[in-house]
Amino acid sequence: MDYNLTGNGYYGEFGGAYIPEILYANVEALQESYLKIIGDPAFTAEFDALLRDYVGRPTPLYFARRLSEQYAARIYLKREDLNHTGAHKINNAIGQILLARRMGKTRIIAETGAGQHGVATATVCALTNMRCIVYMGETDIARQQLNVQKMKMLGAEVRPVTSGNKTLKDAVNEAIRDWCCNPADTHYIIGSVVGPHPYPDMVARFQSVISAELKRQLAEHTGRDYPDYLIACVGGGSNAAGAFYHYLNDERVKLIGAEAAGLGTDTDQTAATIHLGKRGIIHGSHTFVMQTDDGQIIEPYSISAGLDYPGIGPLHANLAETGRAEYLAVTDSEALAAAMELTRLEGIIPALESAHALGALRRKTFRPDDVVAVTVSGRGDKDMETFIKTATSKPQH
Ligand SMILES: *Cc1c(COP(=O)(O)O)cnc(C)c1O
Repeated sequence: MDYNLTGNGYYGEFGGAYIPEILYANVEALQESYLKIIGDPAFTAEFDALLRDYVGRPTPLYFARRLSEQYAARIYLKREDLNHTGAHKINNAIGQILLARRMGKTRIIAETGAGQHGVATATVCALTNMRCIVYMGETDIARQQLNVQKMKMLGAEVRPVTSGNKTLKDAVNEAIRDWCCNPADTHYIIGSVVGPHPYPDMVARFQSVISAELKRQLAEHTGRDYPDYLIACVGGGSNAAGAFYHYLNDERVKLIGAEAAGLGTDTDQTAATIHLGKRGIIHGSHTFVMQTDDGQIIEPYSISAGLDYPGIGPLHANLAETGRAEYLAVTDSEALAAAMELTRLEGIIPALESAHALGALRRKTFRPDDVVAVTVSGRGDKDMETFIKTATSKPQH
């Protein structure tokens, strides 16, 4: 079975493009042109140059010696936290802004929950002098003031969304409404491997730079270009998709996604979509959705704002369904413990999202010569308030 997309927008039975009719022309134009545009050598050259000179790629692959001793395996960290703006999201934002420009678009919209994707989008809009409008729920605006201030400083207009729970899914609805009204001049930058075809495939391709580098760097470090285990956290699933991309059809590599269990999968305070979701349509895609029996979306919860999305990219729905990847639900407290552990053992403060991937380490039993690659999707600066509030940060010497 070939797990990479075959071109029709479906991963097994998941994916597709379930959108309002008014967007057909726009989405079809994108479907028909994206492979040609991003495959053009001039595009690739510009994308690669910005990833190198602006984002700071390649990100290092770091052998974590003390963490390896702790888990009795050879653990390597893919350092996406060292990217400009502090996470992997910038890879995709750069790709999409270059695509939008080539499609003649002059106006960019995005939606954001935690604000990380909003900041990445506002950043690339400043870089390319594009108009930028970011939809964000009022509840999230109140919780994520620093990112709101960054977006404004970068020149974006942050439009508060007051419908529903005033969180991410309401911001998504507003962004889609805006796109319907402005299909000709506007490109909608989606921040993960979610949304209607071609977004899941397009975003995975932009993020696949992570596994392209990983192959090369693992070969340098270990003499072979694949790990035994590859672990990444999963919100919508873009950093995991990027890390898995070149290994999807390599069965030697055990793929592990860590989703957010929140307070536990046996509570209603959780964002473990793969464990608890049911088939449905969200954001224009057929996938697993956290929903009630009558199809109302359930507000997800996680200590990490970047993982509390009520859906999951269709690629991951298929990888879970076929058993190609294993998904572990990691709780808030496991993630906090893992964040503290990485900080004290390696001097790296990870994002709370990334801490879920690190939290998966204690769930597996490794052999001493196993090579385990973990994606550190982002840095923890944005989460300092949460770390301080929940701190058990006593000295350990
Ligand atoms: C947004 C975010 C995530 C979750 O998004 P994916 O699309 O699942 O990668 C993970 N880590 C960080 C640091 C983020 O900002």
